[in-house]
Parts: sequence; structure tokens; C-alpha cells
Amino acid sequence: MIEARELTKRYGDRTAVDRLSFTVRPGLVTGFLGPNGAGKSTTMRMVLGLDAPSSGTVTVAGQRYDRLGAPLRVVGSLLDAKSVHGGRTVRRHLLGLARSNAIPRRRVDEVLELVGLADVADQRAKGLSLGMGQRLGIAAALLGDPEVLILDEPVNGLDTEGIRWIRDLLKSQAAQGRTVFLSSHLMSEMELTADHLIVIGRGRLLADTDMRDFIRTNSQGGTRVRTPDDEAQRMRALLESRGARVALDATGGWRVTGLGPSEVGELAREHRLAVHELTPVLSSLEEVYTQMTRSSVEFRGAETPYETEEAFR
Ligand code: ADP
Repeated sequence: MIEARELTKRYGDRTAVDRLSFTVRPGLVTGFLGPNGAGKSTTMRMVLGLDAPSSGTVTVAGQRYDRLGAPLRVVGSLLDAKSVHGGRTVRRHLLGLARSNAIPRRRVDEVLELVGLADVADQRAKGLSLGMGQRLGIAAALLGDPEVLILDEPVNGLDTEGIRWIRDLLKSQAAQGRTVFLSSHLMSEMELTADHLIVIGRGRLLADTDMRDFIRTNSQGGTRVRTPDDEAQRMRALLESRGARVALDATGGWRVTGLGPSEVGELAREHRLAVHELTPVLSSLEEVYTQMTRSSVEFRGAETPYETEEAFR
């Protein structure tokens, strides 16, 4: 569990994090979203005791980070995978961390297996590829078998295989009852990985909500329509004449917004057009998020709604 209460960080006259209150619960992957400069990294650094709040508090497993005796055994983090002493081997790097946190040596070999680095354990860290370096960062985060994991952009530099690996790893860590808190600017990845979302803009809380609810509540009603090829343009014209927006989707069907499946079906019947597919579709997380950051509608589902245009400016 991570609990922030009225957490605030000011740099001079700039407020990077502004009275942020949220709880990151165990058993779920919680995604942390917000545009660049929103205050995500600053928040994560305060959780990890790397930055002192100007006011407010944040605790991990009920304690301030600096009061944790062996922090790696409570919270594992990956903020910047490059912050490793390049001259050390992979194993020595992890052994050093293990020793300073009273973690048994055999756990080093366990995590090396877990992250797929056992074969390069004796290589120097500076020779690792970006993806391997990221895995080493994750190995360090998992070393103390912590109940809380905090990862800032963990899939940066990973290939498709690596991205899928991280996703499965984080989901399984959450399924074991751990608290997993991660930021990513990759919306499609976040949509696949996170169960819950905390969204901030200009340091303030915009939404603290279940991922599916967030998408369902804020989706524009959409419908995928497929007709025989020779009727596709007629269908499009008809839909547009009823005020719908129509675009070709990735599957080659029409993606219709503004009319639901029943309205589209009735329209087709009226004009004796064949319909081969009629599927309600939700917006993607990226679509919902982008639309909200552009318009000034309020985030529904937010505990404390703000005007988002203001919050994102
Ligand atoms: P994010 O991680 O969401 O991109 P950051 O937490 O890095 O956002 O930054 C939030 C705001 O705080 C930005 O306006 C940034 O310029 C400012 N900021 C971050 N760190 C510092 C610092 N050490 N000194 C001054 N301003 C900072």
C-alpha cells in the first residue's frame, strides 16, 4: 500500500506536485498517467524518500520511506535503469544491494533467473544492452521480495518480447498480493497492464479510478460496421447524413461514432443494406485520454474533478 496525503512539492515558485492524495492498493497494477511535466517522477521520488515533500505526507506499507530499516525488503523500485556502476558485474551489483539490505545471497541467483540474466551474470553492467540494463533494474527491484513495486517507465528500451515479459511479470506480482505502481507514456501498454489508474495534470489529481470504468464511462459510443464492399460507400454516406462520424478502422470496417449499433442496424434495414458485422466498440485508453486532455470536459470517475483543460495547460 502507498498512501499520499496532501502531498506537495514546490521548486521555487513552481508547484510540481499539488496537494495530491491517493492510495495505491495491493493486489492490483496501478498505472500512473499524466503528460510530461505533470509531476509523476517527482511524486515517485517522494514516495522513495529521494525528494522531501514541501508539505503533506506519503507512506509505503504504513511507514515513511526513511523510517524503513531495510527498504529493499519493503519496496522495490526502478526509476532510472542507468544508475548502475558500469564497472561492476551484474552479479556483484546485485550482491552489493543484497548485503546492504540483509538479503540472502541465494536470492541474487533467484532474481537473475527470474529476469533472464543468469547467462550474463558475470558481464560488466556497462556492456549490457538497454533492454538487459532494464532487466537488471527490475532484478534489483525484486531482490528483497518487496510487497510494493514502483516503476517509472519500465518498458522503455524493451522490444516486444521484453514488453510482454514485463507485463506478465507485473500482473503476476499483483496477483500474489503485491502493490504495483507504474508510470508509462505508452497508453496501449498501460491499457493492457493496469487494473487501476491514477491520472494527474499539473501536479493535481484528475482521476483515481478503475481502468475499465474509466474507459467505459468516458468512451464515445462507437460501433464497428461491415457491409459488402460494393455497399460500403453508400453505408458511409447514409451514416454521415445522420450526423455520425465514420472512419476506416484497422480491420477494414467502418468505425462509427455518434450512433449506436441499434441505430445503425435500423438505418441499414430502412435502406435495405446488408450488414455483415455490427459490433459495439469502446474507445481505447489512448483515445479517452487524448480526448480528455484536449477538451475541457471533466474527468468523470475522478474523486475530485477538475477542469482538465486548465489542469493540462
Ligand atoms: P513528469 O515525471 O510527470 O514528467 P516531473 O515530476 O519530472 O514530471 O516534473 C514536474 C515539474 O517539476 C516539471 O515542471 C519540472 O520541470 C519540475 N521539476 C522537476 N524536478 C525539478 C527540480 N529538481 N528542480 C526544479 N524543477 C523541477
